[in-house]
Amino acid sequence: MTSLPENTAVPNTSQEEIEHTIAACHGCDLLLVVPSIPDGHYLACRRCGTIISKTYQDSINRVLILGFTGLLLYLPAILLPLMTLSSIGFNESGSVLDSCINFYRNGYYFVAVMVFFTAVVFPFLKLFLPFVISLYVKLNRQPGWLKSAFRFLGHLEEWGMVEVYLLGILITLIKMSDMASIDYNAGFFCFIALVMITMATSVNLDRNLFWALIDSSQDDKTRNRLNRIKDELQQKPEHILTAAQSGLIRCHDCGKLISTEHNDPATKPKCPRCHASVHQRSKNSIPRTWALVITSFILFIPANTLPIMRVDFLGVPESSTILDGIQYFFNDGSYGIGLIILAASILVPLFKIIGLIIILLTIKSGKNHFLKQKAKMFRFIEFIGRWSMLDIFVIALLTVMVDFGFLTSTHAAPGATYFCIVVAATMTAAIVFDPRIIWDRCETPAKDAISLRETYASTDGS
Ligand SMILES: [Zn+2]
Ligand SMILES: [Zn+2]
Repeated sequence: MTSLPENTAVPNTSQEEIEHTIAACHGCDLLLVVPSIPDGHYLACRRCGTIISKTYQDSINRVLILGFTGLLLYLPAILLPLMTLSSIGFNESGSVLDSCINFYRNGYYFVAVMVFFTAVVFPFLKLFLPFVISLYVKLNRQPGWLKSAFRFLGHLEEWGMVEVYLLGILITLIKMSDMASIDYNAGFFCFIALVMITMATSVNLDRNLFWALIDSSQDDKTRNRLNRIKDELQQKPEHILTAAQSGLIRCHDCGKLISTEHNDPATKPKCPRCHASVHQRSKNSIPRTWALVITSFILFIPANTLPIMRVDFLGVPESSTILDGIQYFFNDGSYGIGLIILAASILVPLFKIIGLIIILLTIKSGKNHFLKQKAKMFRFIEFIGRWSMLDIFVIALLTVMVDFGFLTSTHAAPGATYFCIVVAATMTAAIVFDPRIIWDRCETPAKDAISLRETYASTDGS
C-alpha cells in the first residue's frame, strides 16, 4: 500500500462529488482536498500524518464474505475447548467463554465483564455488524437502524481484542509446555481462523465508501461553502486552513462536514447523516483526560504491587505480582516472552500515562514545539492501548487450564482488578482526548479566524 502525493489535484470535480473531495483531518482539523484514490492506496494528512482515507478493492463484497465466514467460525471458536492440559493423571480443558465465567465465579466481576466484552461480545459484533451493514448496502436498502449500527461499529474497533487473546493463548502454551502435556482441540484452530478473519474484515472495511453509499446528500449552502474552500485549496495547496476556521465541524462519527452557521444556537448541533452530537472540539476533553490519567496513575501502584495471580501447589498458596511473572520467564530463559509481558503489562500502561501527561502539560503551557511528534505519540498511544490486556487473558486461561485438584490450581488475585481498571481507564483517556487540541494553539489568531468564517459564510447564498 502506498500514499498519494500530498494535496493531489482532484480528477473528478463535479458538484455531486464535492462531499468526497473535501475532508477534515480528525487528527488536526486541517481541510484537505481528497482526490479519487486508487484501490489499495491511502491518503495521509500532510500536517499531522493521520490517515484520512484508505480504499480497498471490492470492499462491500469482501466484507460481506469475510463477515459471513467469521460468523460461521464464531460459535465453535468461543465455545469449543481450546486445548487440553494433562499432568499426572489429571486432564483439564477450557474454552474462551469458560475463561470469563471463571473470573465471575471467583468474584472478580469487573475483570469478568471486561474479558467477556473484549473477547466474546465485541468480537461477535465486529463480524455481525459489518456483515449485516454490507448486506443492506449491497441490496440498496436502508432500515432506520443502519446508520446507528454503523456509528456503533466505529466505536468498537479497539475494544474487540481477539488478536490480543490469541497472543495470550500462545504465551499460556509456552508457560505450560514444561509442566503438562498439551493437546490442541478444535476450538484452538477455529479461534486462530476467527482472529485472521476478524482482522481481514476490519482491514477491508472502507468506512468512507460505506458512509457515502449510506448517505452522501449535502445541503446547497454547505455545498457552496465546500466548493469555495476547495477552489482556494487547489490554488494554494500549502494553505493551512482548518474546519473550525472555515465555520465547519467534522462529525466525529461519520466524518461529514457540517456548516456551523446555520445551526439554531438554542439546540445542540447534530450530524444530519448519522445523528451524532457534533462539537467543534470534544466537550471537556482536557479535564476528562486528566481525570482518567490521574486515576490510572494511582491504580497503577496497587496493580503492580498487589499479587495478580495465586498458584496453590499441594495446598500451599503462592501469590505472584506482574513483575514476579516476568521474572519467572527471564529465570526460565524465555527472554522473548518475558519482554513481551514486560512491554504489555508495565511499559505500555506507563508510556500511555506519561505520554498523555506530557501532551496535556504542553497544551496547558501553550508551547507549540514538537507538534508532529506529539501527534505521532498520541496515535501510538491509541494503537498500543489494547495490548495491555495480554496478562489478564493469560491469567484467564491459566485459571481454567491449570486446575489439577489438590496437586496444583491457579486463581486470580486482587491486583488483576486494579490492572484491568488501569487498562480500561487509559484506553478511555485516549478516546476522550481530542487530538485536534494539540494543533489549536498554532493556528490563525481568533480575530483572523472570525473574519475567515465570515468570508465563507458570505459566499453561501451566492
Ligand atoms: Zn492532520
Ligand atoms: Zn455524522
